[in-house]
Amino acid sequence: MHFSALNLPAADDPTDQVDYFANNGFGNAVAIVQQPAGEHHNGVTYVAYQGPLEDPYVAAYHHETGEWQGPFKAGESVMGKAPDRPKPIDNHGKPALVIDDEGYLHLAFGGHGGMPHHGKNPLGNIHYGEMRHVVSKRPLDISSWELLDNVSVFGTYNQWVKMDNGDLYLFYRHGAHRSDWVYQKSTDNGRTFAPPVSFLKHRRRSDVAAVDSWYPWVGRGEGDDIIVVYDYHLCWDVDSGRRGHGHTTERRNAYYMVMDTKSGVWRNVQGETLSMPIVKDYADEKTLAVTTGDLLWTFNGAAKLDPASHPHFTTSIGPMDWSKFGGSKLTTHFRWTGQEWSGNLATGMPRGGGDMLISSSEDVRIFLGGRDAGNDGSVAIWRSKDGGDSFIREKVLLHRPGSGMAISSMIKNAHPDARVIAAEIPSGTDYRRMYLIGDNGPIPRAKRAASVLVRVE
Ligand code: ZN
Repeated sequence: MHFSALNLPAADDPTDQVDYFANNGFGNAVAIVQQPAGEHHNGVTYVAYQGPLEDPYVAAYHHETGEWQGPFKAGESVMGKAPDRPKPIDNHGKPALVIDDEGYLHLAFGGHGGMPHHGKNPLGNIHYGEMRHVVSKRPLDISSWELLDNVSVFGTYNQWVKMDNGDLYLFYRHGAHRSDWVYQKSTDNGRTFAPPVSFLKHRRRSDVAAVDSWYPWVGRGEGDDIIVVYDYHLCWDVDSGRRGHGHTTERRNAYYMVMDTKSGVWRNVQGETLSMPIVKDYADEKTLAVTTGDLLWTFNGAAKLDPASHPHFTTSIGPMDWSKFGGSKLTTHFRWTGQEWSGNLATGMPRGGGDMLISSSEDVRIFLGGRDAGNDGSVAIWRSKDGGDSFIREKVLLHRPGSGMAISSMIKNAHPDARVIAAEIPSGTDYRRMYLIGDNGPIPRAKRAASVLVRVE
């Protein structure tokens, strides 16, 4: 197949506006975990997403002028080029974006654990792809990019954190699903990185035929702190005799911890120093926030501090559905009160993914993307005014009947008009309309400019 830009029917009215900014999102074009996917900087919101052939694309919106730039293809992914693979769209290598102190934009993308030709992964197993790091050739210019060969090819679920002193941390899983989670630190705006440091350890269990594994979400805390919320993946061996599929069968609980980047020392929510890297029994003893019991399917959301510096996080929890990969789960919210973790499974929120806007420990808004109660794709603000005991749907920002919806974490330093990126997932195509959504809904764009991709048969 071939693609051409701006190839529209002649009858198209050039003044037509649409509520999406591009139509070349691809697969699961954005997600909560590959983050941040966008950053607001000096009046411009920069956004990244997975486009055709799983390559990373970047667009920019100027809030004062209302002008859009891009999307531009920012790099080349190893994945997405082999339609004969059992799972032709891998989706694990979506881009995460960060702007360094000199204004250069960085993307990490393209990995799902590395491939045999990369050699042995010293921190776990391999699967596919090659994590890559590209940087814009000029500050705050998304039109041209260069590849830097300075991060691990084994990475996946790439997440950036930038500290106030300009230090960049790239967090990721160092391999496929039976691998350590690590970070690499750069003190020179991403030109060089220290070697990977493990903070969550994968480990074969001695009691059952399975491996301990993890799924974290990483973000800024107070001052020099980085906060991490994570769930536990009990990865059964395929021949273990367990019902269902080995890898997808169990994800449990929620855990929380903090790294002081000044000292490199980790602590739990009570302030106790932790021995690193974390292993399962120790996590249960020191960092457990929520026990999910008989509910064997969890999926991480995001974490954030409230004005009292107490952590909140979202996570999806539900029963495992043995008939398909994954489970049916509902979005939940938990917070630390200063004494204990507070939250419940009956928030009223449907399944989906969502990051938070926290005004106070009591007042929490979740920008939730997914399928609503009517099974339509939606992005909505769910608000709690009682510290997360209950939520009501305050405002629907986008509603697409019959489609699914994927959503990003909060854009870093977000402008109120541009909080999250969403991808509309219609049935019958792998291409997605991409939306930049704020408190009043999506930001419009001229239809001609947003029609980046027209499939030419
Ligand atoms: Zn697994």
